[in-house]
Amino acid sequence: MASCDYCGTTILFGGVKDEGLRFCKEKCREEGFYLKVAQQLPADVVQSQMREIHQGACPRCGGDGPVDVQTFHTIWSVLYFTSWNSRPEVCCRRCGVKIRIRSLFSCGLLGWWGFPWGVLGTPIQLTRNFVGLFSGPRPEHPSAELENIVRVDLAQQFVEARQLQEAEKAAAVRATEDEMFLIEEPAE
Ligand SMILES: [Zn+2]
Ligand SMILES: [Zn+2]
Repeated sequence: MASCDYCGTTILFGGVKDEGLRFCKEKCREEGFYLKVAQQLPADVVQSQMREIHQGACPRCGGDGPVDVQTFHTIWSVLYFTSWNSRPEVCCRRCGVKIRIRSLFSCGLLGWWGFPWGVLGTPIQLTRNFVGLFSGPRPEHPSAELENIVRVDLAQQFVEARQLQEAEKAAAVRATEDEMFLIEEPAE
């Protein structure tokens, strides 16, 4: 079965395709743009950043790592409307277990009340959370999903820095043009 090239979630229905890549939802496709930019980043920069996050403190609880991507799955329904989502969270294993248990409760309470997708989707999201309690990323090394998130993060910083640089350059050009205009103005 196909899985999302950004977050790794299994794609059950449809998904979004983009230049040979496949994503589970629009938001992942947007992040996928940065995956392409990220291919130009030096490998050692990505590796060292990834090691730092993996071995660092958990951003949620501040406890010891390893820190990796803990994906949790949600669903809620009202009559004919159902919303389901799979979200990656960068945190430690203990926080991952807590989030999944909370998601199990919220799916079990809020998922069922829509037809047909609430009834069909709730067991799927419950199973995904439940399986995640016992599987999830291995502690020895960073997962491919964490690498994706780190790459996208670095690529976003890279793109923002470049945009800032270009904006500054454009402002500088405008400033010199203004100066030239002042000089060229005929003297009285
Ligand atoms: Zn995805
Ligand atoms: Zn934690």
